[in-house]
Amino acid sequence: MAGDIPDNPEARLASVREEIARMAKKAGREPGDVTLVAISKTHDAEAVRPLIAAGQRVFGENRVQEAQDKWPPLKAAVPDIELHLVGQLQSNKAEDAVALFDAIHGVDRPSLIKALAKALAKMERRPLLFVQVNIGEEEQKGGCAIADLPALLEKAADAGLGISGLMCIPPADVEPAPYFALLAKLAKESGIDRLSMGMSGDYGTAVMCGATHVRVGTALFGRR
Ligand SMILES: *Cc1c(COP(=O)(O)O)cnc(C)c1O
Repeated sequence: MAGDIPDNPEARLASVREEIARMAKKAGREPGDVTLVAISKTHDAEAVRPLIAAGQRVFGENRVQEAQDKWPPLKAAVPDIELHLVGQLQSNKAEDAVALFDAIHGVDRPSLIKALAKALAKMERRPLLFVQVNIGEEEQKGGCAIADLPALLEKAADAGLGISGLMCIPPADVEPAPYFALLAKLAKESGIDRLSMGMSGDYGTAVMCGATHVRVGTALFGRR
């Protein structure tokens, strides 16, 4: 895949957008129903600016601290930037995350729901919340177990948290479509309509399976 990546950021962005549109059309969906989250982790502000200049507005980071260092000046310059947190979130960082991010994709346990509810009670901000599901039931992966999803959603509802979507990272090196389809099924059963799934290697497949948010890093920024 890396061999197909164009060498300037504008061309990479155009190529990813084209692929999203092509796969959306193939699936009978509107390209505009898929949000491209440009994952800029490990890349500095200089690497991000060309994509902002090319019109990209939605970005993602996986560490609160790195985002706090990088984004406030960029956001001040371009106020309609939307920032998504896609990594594991420690409960003691919940307030910082709510203050900075417009979406949080890694809600995966009752203790974090409690911490987020506390943070939201103090602040006016209402980031979109995605529950991460350990879709391949992998020991080492984050995310709530499939069997625990209904109880976790109930906990969120009890705490007054609106859950907007489900998120997953399928197992590496196997066909991802069945996992994306399973996440779509779980969302449907729970009355949830946003799906955060698909990365550089599989975002086209994810769009075919109903992704509303694809999280693409390497195909936009090059290797980390
Ligand atoms: C890094 C990361 C991505 C982007 O991965 P690429 O393969 O570089 O596109 C997407 N989602 C999460 C949760 C990540 O940590």
